[in-house]
Amino acid sequence: MSQQGEPRILIVGAGFGGIGAAIELQRHGFRDITILDAASDLGGTWFHNSYPGAACDVPSHLYSYSFATRRDWLRLCSTQREILDYLHAVAHDYGVDRLVVPDSMVTSCRWDDAGRRWSVETQAGDTHEADAIVLATGQLHQPAHPRVPGIERFAGHSFHSAEWDHDYDLRGRRVAVIGTGASAVQFVPEIAEQAGRLVVFQRTGNWFMPRRNRAYPRPVLAAIRRVPGVQAFRRRFMFQYGESLTSMIRHPATLGRLGAARSAAFMRWQVRDPELRRRIWPDYTFGCKRILFSSAFLPALQRPNVDLVADAITEITPTGIVTAGGVEHEVDCIIYGTGFRTNDFMFPMEISGVGGRSLRDVWAAGPHAHLGITVPGFPSMFVMYGPNTNTSGGSIIVYLEAQAAYLRQALQLVRDRGAAAIDVRAEVEAQSDRETQARFAGTAWTRCDSWYRTQDGRIVANWPGYMREYVARTATLEPAEFELIPSAAREPQPA
Ligand code: NAP
Repeated sequence: MSQQGEPRILIVGAGFGGIGAAIELQRHGFRDITILDAASDLGGTWFHNSYPGAACDVPSHLYSYSFATRRDWLRLCSTQREILDYLHAVAHDYGVDRLVVPDSMVTSCRWDDAGRRWSVETQAGDTHEADAIVLATGQLHQPAHPRVPGIERFAGHSFHSAEWDHDYDLRGRRVAVIGTGASAVQFVPEIAEQAGRLVVFQRTGNWFMPRRNRAYPRPVLAAIRRVPGVQAFRRRFMFQYGESLTSMIRHPATLGRLGAARSAAFMRWQVRDPELRRRIWPDYTFGCKRILFSSAFLPALQRPNVDLVADAITEITPTGIVTAGGVEHEVDCIIYGTGFRTNDFMFPMEISGVGGRSLRDVWAAGPHAHLGITVPGFPSMFVMYGPNTNTSGGSIIVYLEAQAAYLRQALQLVRDRGAAAIDVRAEVEAQSDRETQARFAGTAWTRCDSWYRTQDGRIVANWPGYMREYVARTATLEPAEFELIPSAAREPQPA
């Protein structure tokens, strides 16, 4: 507690999760909040991912806080800059931007059994004491590089899409892109216009859906701005659209086939060349991996200066990339669009709970948490965008807001009962994990390998159902599911 008897809350991560949690807590009377972030400014994923063409493929009327909707989004899906500006504006309006301590990379969070609180250390050597910690570092923050022999010997320039080198001029260069996920499909059409030669290395094909994303025509902008209810209707519509994508993933043999047919028709229309079509065609069930929304990627592959290579990469040499069959593609620059180390969640942070137990050990067989938020033996530790809370068909902000309200209720309970901390009961977490895992049976997610799964095949990233179910399930915290840890002052003292 602070000197004023206020619980001290430390949030790690100043992205949509951390900022949303700070606003929610502040609105409910919590005053001692600090947000640490490794970056030099707030923004999280929207601070780091500044690659050309970076945008959110979830429409902005849904990809925004429900308490801070906007009527002036310029297009369906906003650019990285617009989203970052929005987050800055909301953080400023709610007075939480001043709580952010930038350049603070958290290295460890340790629960102190005697003191009944957390001790949080940063790389700079600062120590923060806290009654509760909120880990809002997300699932997609540690860039993953492929394990290819020779990768360290490449003598040209290279960088990851999440660490874009804006000082490197791609004009006229021979550029390789490894990966064709949601990031690559956004930046490939942009850099295809600059590079002299662009070779895109694809390991697995994707299912595409159209998304043109032109700026709204003026009458549409005016209607959203001026006609009451239009903006709210758009948000509800997009919510339902997201739920319909989830229904296709949940029912691959029926609704999923309709989605696959729509996607296939679009892809056939965009790619007429049968040879290229064969190379880009996905070989797994629609929806098993992320469905990609882009009307620009497949046309970019058909530019005269662009090649798509679907052969496996076997080696990287000082001068280029070698694929199966021994062909070497000589390039000046390699851009890794190879995604993130998703199963690692908030690691490499060292986190230890009751009795010094390491979270790494608890999660050795794959991460799991009650509703993705609380882990038994880690009192008053709350994870945002934690295990099994990713969405394949909706807006992560819907989940983050639900999590913020849930953890706020937990901390209100601690405050109201004069306790030190709150810990989810082990049997409650185990049961909810069993329920979550059982709900994946028969869904498209189980039908291929993806970043949603561990090597053993356990799905640890995604929520198995609909947004509305997660919101309903987290709406009211059930006190019986938790144990309160009494504050030291309330413990019976020895006579
Ligand atoms: P990603 O979806 O994980 O894609 C990584 C790509 O790299 C895949 O094509 C993958 O192929 C390939 N790859 C990985 N390791 C490889 C290797 N060793 N050799 C060859 N290819 C390799 O990563 P991302 O595109 O950065 O996107 C990550 C997530 O961020 C997305 O799924 C999404 O949730 C989020 N995101 C969202 C948006 C948005 O607009 N909302 C935009 C960007 C990113 P395989 O498919 O074979 O694994």
